[in-house]
Amino acid sequence: MLAAWMGRNKSAELIGANMAALAASMTGRLDQNMFERYREIGIVADMEILRPHWLQNTEALRITLDRIQQSFPDYAWIGFADRTGNVRAATRGMLEGQSVEKRNWFADAKGRPFVGDLHEALLLARLLGPRRDGEPFRFVDIAYPVHSRQGELLGVLGAHLSWDWVSDLRSDLLAQQGDTSIEILVLDQNGNVLLGPRFGQSALAAEQVKPLMQSARGFRNDLQTAFDTGSRWLTGYAVTAGHRDYPGLGWIVLARQPQQQALQPVNNLAISILAIGLLFVLIAIALTWRLAGRMSNPLYRIAREAAQIGQGGDAAATTLPLVGGSREIMHLSQTLRSLLRRIGTAQAQLADVQARHMDESRRLTSDLAEWQQRANTDAMTGLLNRRAFLDLAAQQVAFSRRYGGGLCAVVADIDHFKSVNDTHGHATGDTAIKAVAELLKRSARESDLVARFGGEEFVVLLMASDLDATAAYAERVRAALAADALILPDGQTLWLTISLGCAALLTQDKDVQDTIDRADGALYAAKSAGRNRVMLAATADPAPRPTITPSAPEP
Ligand code: GH3
Ligand code: MG
Ligand code: MG
Repeated sequence: MLAAWMGRNKSAELIGANMAALAASMTGRLDQNMFERYREIGIVADMEILRPHWLQNTEALRITLDRIQQSFPDYAWIGFADRTGNVRAATRGMLEGQSVEKRNWFADAKGRPFVGDLHEALLLARLLGPRRDGEPFRFVDIAYPVHSRQGELLGVLGAHLSWDWVSDLRSDLLAQQGDTSIEILVLDQNGNVLLGPRFGQSALAAEQVKPLMQSARGFRNDLQTAFDTGSRWLTGYAVTAGHRDYPGLGWIVLARQPQQQALQPVNNLAISILAIGLLFVLIAIALTWRLAGRMSNPLYRIAREAAQIGQGGDAAATTLPLVGGSREIMHLSQTLRSLLRRIGTAQAQLADVQARHMDESRRLTSDLAEWQQRANTDAMTGLLNRRAFLDLAAQQVAFSRRYGGGLCAVVADIDHFKSVNDTHGHATGDTAIKAVAELLKRSARESDLVARFGGEEFVVLLMASDLDATAAYAERVRAALAADALILPDGQTLWLTISLGCAALLTQDKDVQDTIDRADGALYAAKSAGRNRVMLAATADPAPRPTITPSAPEP
């Protein structure tokens, strides 16, 4: 748009300059021509050879004037009037004998050479007859005073120059331009039309003329004549300035062309420029769009695929498709792929380490459980050992004291065991210990604690049990052992008896050891009383059971 606008302005300027040059050319020719006619008449008026003829031999003078007219047909009339204004000789004898005393050219030229502005023919109109185009005859007047050799005024030589040569001049110039929309106007110094569509009318006002006169030559795109309708013009102008001794008449020549026509090609060019520019913009937008798409689509795709990673079930899906596109995109895609491969490898290694760690930890857990089992049990019999028994018993005492339910302890010791060892050997002794352990365990409830305290001595803690029930348990064990002989591997039989002491947990007991001590006391009593028997600890009342406050009865 800027290019179109600038092109238009520049063209308007160029056309204006061309119009100004055309106007200047027209003024140049006008001045040149006027100067020649002016000088011609001057020379004739001052011709030495004509001097005797001015007043005496008018015949010879007429012939001379006719010759001059023939050499330049635009002279409509050349004539000599004597000092009184009486025409003595004239071309083709026209107006001879008539008076021109009242005419400007005659009056003014008596003192000095005269050039008169254009006017319509007055006296000659009748003699010349009607013009072919119906227009009146128009003339420019040139007149010179004629003097005798002594400097005495003889009369005035005057010439009427037909205005037709100016229109011919204009036609010549316009023909050279070859553009019919161009027109040339000649105005006088007051802005009235001398040559143009409306002769004699005022085309420019005084305030319009003034700046033209000042600059003498130039270009205007806002100059409107009085009779212009609507259309705007690009106008070049020039003012005639005379030539050498020809003073000039201050004519203004306007050469102008309607802007509409003058700028038509430029307007077309502007439209072409705009259309081509628009086309290029559209193509550029389309190309940019495509290019941006080629850059961004693969990036979007990579981003989409990357967003999928780790989502859904397959958390190990650590691969991206290889995305094509520009070099940078492919580089990015490849880099991301190898990054993901490395992540995948690291993940696999981590999973491997985790699995191994889990195995190890499982093995350690089972080992720990086994070691705990070993630490808590007696290796020979599989019963609880003393330490584990005391730990568990302490918990049971606390439970019993909180929620109630009696607790009773039984201490058992095989009778005369030393002699078993002595008689049958240490291995048989071990077998006997295992058999008794088995019997004690089998006879108790699952929830009761059965422990080997050392040697052939055992402690049993019976849960939710009173002294009677405990005594019954002890008696069952004693009776069972006494009733059946133990069959040894070598087929021999071994009779064993066992003594047992029983005691119940009492309120005053500090811990379970107090109960065990009392049961041990009972055992001692049983041994003392002859062995193979059950004894109960000295009767102190069993601990009063803690009462559980019943909930409020329902109404
Ligand atoms: P009492 O009726 O008074 O209990 O007489 P006793 O011989 O059983 O006397 P005591 O309880 O003092 O003897 C324990 C004996 O048990 C001493 C030891 O030789 C034997 N003994 C202790 N531990 C083991 C063991 O693990 N295996 C074997 N075979 N014998 C043991
Ligand atoms: Mg013993
Ligand atoms: Mg013993």
